[in-house]
Amino acid sequence: MVNTVLQASDVCKSFGGRQVLKDAALSVAEGETVVLIGPSGSGKTTFLRCLNWLETPDSGRIRLRGDLVGRAVDGREHGEAELARQRSRIGFVFQRFNLFAHLSALDNVAMGPRRVQGLSVGQARERAREELARVHMAAHVDKRPSQLSGGQQQRVAIARALAMRPELILFDEPTSALDPELVTEVVDVMRELAQAGMTMVVVTHEMRFARQTADRVVFMDGGLVIEQGPPAQIFDAPQTERTRRFLGHLH
Ligand code: ADP
Repeated sequence: MVNTVLQASDVCKSFGGRQVLKDAALSVAEGETVVLIGPSGSGKTTFLRCLNWLETPDSGRIRLRGDLVGRAVDGREHGEAELARQRSRIGFVFQRFNLFAHLSALDNVAMGPRRVQGLSVGQARERAREELARVHMAAHVDKRPSQLSGGQQQRVAIARALAMRPELILFDEPTSALDPELVTEVVDVMRELAQAGMTMVVVTHEMRFARQTADRVVFMDGGLVIEQGPPAQIFDAPQTERTRRFLGHLH
């Protein structure tokens, strides 16, 4: 039986009267790597942010292993404490890393487990070391973000997400802010996580990653999911004209 981790349905969102998401839907199974692709402005980032309530959807439902995200069953939005508790179950990796500049890599990663999960300083640092080793940053634990390359900073940000032991991780264009030569080290770490069975949703323009690593590719355009399927189907035999046109522009 498929074990569903995340299920989003009928997600709508407007900004200033412009509808950016129109009944967007997505279901993610345990261990699955889902890659969201689509033209710029099609709503991918907004959809990803709605999944853990960084952006409040106007309507729709998001369930994390059956638990309604963001709102109670009576429709009222959760308070900050409950939202923080839910968000700790969903890792998020930002395009621009969002690390604390005054903290070492180790303390950036240890902060969540300490503050949100109540681990002692020692336990949190031990966990941070483990996760930094997992992203091949063991040699840099004491450095601050300014002493690290963009690719290294992004790997620290991935370790920070992992340290919370989340049920899934959302990646918002994790390599878009990187110099081209630094993309591979981040993509390689993401591939290792996918192969280790992490549940992941990734917005990216890295089509090689999508083709090689995704279990499923989801094509979005105009605020909704147009087509989805295994990479070979989406890239080699797209079912819709819109998908074909988008992929055609990439070459
Ligand atoms: P994508 O990730 O596919 O490029 P986005 O979700 O970033 O698309 O953006 C979809 C549309 O929503 C764009 O037109 C963008 O300008 C708009 N948008 C996104 N965030 C905001 C915001 N906070 N306020 C106003 N407009 C926004």
